[in-house]
This record gives sequence, C-alpha cells and structure tokens, in this order.
Amino acid sequence: MISQTSNYHRFQPHPHINLHCLRRQFLLKSSANVEEETETLDLNLKHKVEKIGINFDSSTPGQYTHQICPLCKGGQSKERSLSFHVNQNEKVAIWRCFNFECGWAGHVLADGVNKVKFSKKLGEKTLRLEPLGDELINYFAERMISAEILQKNAVMQMVDDKNVIAFTYRWKGEIVNCKFRSITTRKFWQAKHGKRILYGLDGIKEGNTIVIVEGEIDKLSMDEAGVVNCVSVPDGAPQQVSKKQDTRFKYLSDCNGYLDKASRIILATDGDGPGQVLAEELSCRLGKERCWLVTWPKKDEGTHCKDANEVLVHLGPEALRHVVETAELYQVKNSP
Ligand SMILES: [Zn+2]
Repeated sequence: MISQTSNYHRFQPHPHINLHCLRRQFLLKSSANVEEETETLDLNLKHKVEKIGINFDSSTPGQYTHQICPLCKGGQSKERSLSFHVNQNEKVAIWRCFNFECGWAGHVLADGVNKVKFSKKLGEKTLRLEPLGDELINYFAERMISAEILQKNAVMQMVDDKNVIAFTYRWKGEIVNCKFRSITTRKFWQAKHGKRILYGLDGIKEGNTIVIVEGEIDKLSMDEAGVVNCVSVPDGAPQQVSKKQDTRFKYLSDCNGYLDKASRIILATDGDGPGQVLAEELSCRLGKERCWLVTWPKKDEGTHCKDANEVLVHLGPEALRHVVETAELYQVKNSP
C-alpha cells in the first residue's frame, strides 16, 4: 500500500525516474513471507520502507531527517532532498522529495494499521513552516522590504528548504492558503486544499480606499511605503481578457465582505500587457466607476518601473506613496 500524501501540490516526477517500477516492487510484497509476518510492528515498517529504497535506520522517530532520494538521487545538485519522517509510535513513515524535478511523496503503514488520517487543515506545523532565516531576510532586504514588515505579514520559510519563501494567506488569523516561492529555482507553487483569497486581507482596515496589486512582494512593498490598505491577487495576471474567467476571479466574490465597503479601489497591477489585462478584468468585476489606475513612473531615462517593488527599490517609499495618491479614475485614464 503506497499512496501520495496530500498537503502539497505535487510536481510530476522527472520522466527518467521509473516510479512505477518502484511501486510495483513494493506492491509485490509477498504475503506468504512467514518470517516477515512474525516480526514486530516497527521491524515490519522498516522492511517496507527499505524495500522502496529509503534508509530507515538514519531516522529518529518523531523527527524529520534528510537523505538522498532513491528516485532522483538528489538531481543535479545531488542534495539530500528526501525529507523522511517516522511517527513516534512507529506506525507510519512519510516522505517527500524537495527536488522540484522529482517531488516524490508518499507514506507506508505498519501492518495492522489500516488508515492514517492526514490533517487537511493548513497550519504552520502541517505545512512545515518556520520563521524566516538570515538568507531570506537578506533576499527581502535587497528588495527594500524590512524584517519588521515581513513579520507583520507572517512571511515564513520552509523547514525542509531554507531557500523557499512561504507567503501565508490568513483569514482572521488562521492560515487558509500558502504560496511558496523558491529563490533558487524561482518557481511558485501553492498548498493543496488552500482557499484562494486575496493576500493581505487580515491587514485591511475599515476604510474607503483599497489598493490591489499583482503579487505578494508588491503588497509587502506597499506596506513598507505605509500603504497598509493593500491586497494582492492570489495568482498574478491572466494573459488575455476572457469572458469565461469567472472561476479564476471567484476570490473577488469570496472576499466581498472586505471589498464592497470600499468606495475607491486603486488598481496597481504591473505595467506590462498581462498587468493591464488584469486591471481590466478587475475593474469589470468591481465596477469601473469606483476603480482607479496608477501610472508607474520612470525608473531612468528610457524605462518605466513595472510594479510597486521596482518603485520602492529605485525611487523609494515616498515615490510609491505618490504613485498611489496620483492614481486616476479608471474610465478617464482608459478613455481614447
Ligand atoms: Zn527525488
């Protein structure tokens, strides 16, 4: 019995990895193996784990250890990408490979254990999150985002890969979604079973004006500049305007309790094509008469800043506040 654990979005394994072969090898376990049947529970679990190529002895019950993944061998970097855990009473072993090309995850149960309930409730523990370390704090410092703002927004990191930022999406203090970003591979992914809501919702104070940006880092940049009534869309910009995208924008109606009170919504999406498409989609759904649009200032002679973080980095917090304050009514700005 081998199955996928369920708390994370799972990547397809590398095509060269013969997962089926390993699975078959495991499923073919002979039930007639008398010797094995007479073993104690933990030895039985050890056998099951070792049959699929995972080193059982290197683990300490109750703790997470890292070893070379038997499927991808750690990929190009050859790192110990397989996080392996045996629970305290040694009845279940779980693992996950943090090599993005691989992503192998699963669990095995000791004989006599029929089912283990994996909690679908998202939390710092189930998502394996910890406070940001120096490396990621420095990464944000280069983008002019301070440790104070990171803490205020409960930005965390992954226990199993300290290069992965975890943007926690909270609703009344509870984590309802989490978006991960690796600073080494630059890949983004989301927690499975997460609720798609606007990022930064808990920070919204009753007020007339709400700013909407296109990404978490832009939301943090606005916060840094003192623009606190700001949220980010959960999944960036679509490539083109489409009438059939109502499911994509369902987060707007889900967060309506916050948005419907605002008489002014300032759209500060990216200055590129998809960013403008997003602004159009948002304004259609929120009501053009209350939407305003920012103009991104010039970064240097030839180029414009494309988002809030670029303004913060190149021109400073005051300039970013000015961008928000000088937004124009959407319909006026987009009139021919
Ligand atoms: Zn792997």
